[in-house]
Amino acid sequence: MRPVSGRASRPRGIYDLSLPELETRVRDLGFPAYRGRQLWSWAYRQFVTDFSEMSNIPFALRDALATETPVSLLEPSRTVATDDGETIKTLYRTADDQVLETVLMLYPNRATVCVSCQVGCAVGCAFCATGLMGLARNLGAGEMVAQVVGAAREARQRGRELTNIVMMGMGEPLQNYAETMKLVSIVHDPAGLNIGARRITLSTSGIVPKIDALADEPLQIKLAVSLHAPDDELRSRLVPVNRRYPIATLMAAVDRYIAKTGRRVSFEYALMRGINDSEKTAYDLATLLRGRLCHVNIIPLNPVDMLPYERPDPEGIERFANAVRTAGIPTTVRYSRGLDIDAACGQLRAKELSFSAARAPK
Ligand code: SAH
Ligand code: SF4
Repeated sequence: MRPVSGRASRPRGIYDLSLPELETRVRDLGFPAYRGRQLWSWAYRQFVTDFSEMSNIPFALRDALATETPVSLLEPSRTVATDDGETIKTLYRTADDQVLETVLMLYPNRATVCVSCQVGCAVGCAFCATGLMGLARNLGAGEMVAQVVGAAREARQRGRELTNIVMMGMGEPLQNYAETMKLVSIVHDPAGLNIGARRITLSTSGIVPKIDALADEPLQIKLAVSLHAPDDELRSRLVPVNRRYPIATLMAAVDRYIAKTGRRVSFEYALMRGINDSEKTAYDLATLLRGRLCHVNIIPLNPVDMLPYERPDPEGIERFANAVRTAGIPTTVRYSRGLDIDAACGQLRAKELSFSAARAPK
């Protein structure tokens, strides 16, 4: 794994601060703490990103904040929606010109945002568009919060309320642990977005020491583990971090997590034709997971340009899911939303960059 670049020079915005930190900041600037609460409400109840619209905040405070602590550090550069308008993908540019992506998915009874936590990813899973690009850098909590607020605003424009967060965009959240936990505490704040911990799901490729750390966190967020294979030989090929934390080590951490939290863990399984979709593999998967408080989420692969992996046909997908189910493990098939807008992990970004590169002057 490549080292994570330092964040020392990265600017911090309002979204990087907890409510108590914002109150302190406001007090340090010579204003009463309740102004912090007012700002908080503009940011997280009204989704206002421009200080000039915060009409009840004194000009002097707006000016002081605007120079040093901007509201959002992300600039939306492109938004695309599926034909039915139920999946909306936004590409953002960071202050240092990195590109990242966020997806909002509207369902009948909930609205879920899929958040990126890194630009790229160091884990390098064999079938993942984000993995192809390596890690550029970690995102700060504020850059993640900005994605959530942007999605909340998009949802509200459509008469909907953002209800759920999944950390399933670009990057490995457990390799950006502190900032991810800060995001969780900010979006959870009842005076702001008020998103319950049980409505936040963190997905990991299996960074064992951090799964243990997560089990000790006070907020009851949900854990999803990207398993993709029931044996070390295959999993190490698909998810290289398996060489460092093999399946037995990973399962022991999952067991500790379940014992400590009493919460069900979900295992994600990207189904690839001829790779991990045989009936024997289904049986091995069920054998591995039997007796655990868990369920399996099968994600039929979203094929990535330049990678050789394919999605099985619908019968193959059903056959595999049924085999795992029949062997006693609760199993669902989750078709990714927004295939027609490259909404799968890292894919729109990849396209945007090759598009920009193709247009760049020679
Ligand atoms: N890095 C974390 C979370 C982001 S990826 C993780 O790996 O868990 C969210 C999920 O999408 C993971 O289960 C990941 O393996 C899966 N995924 C990545 N690329 C995919 C693709 N091309 N098709 C289907 N699922 C994919
Ligand atoms: Fe990183 Fe997750 Fe993609 Fe693997 S699947 S490369 S861990 S983002």
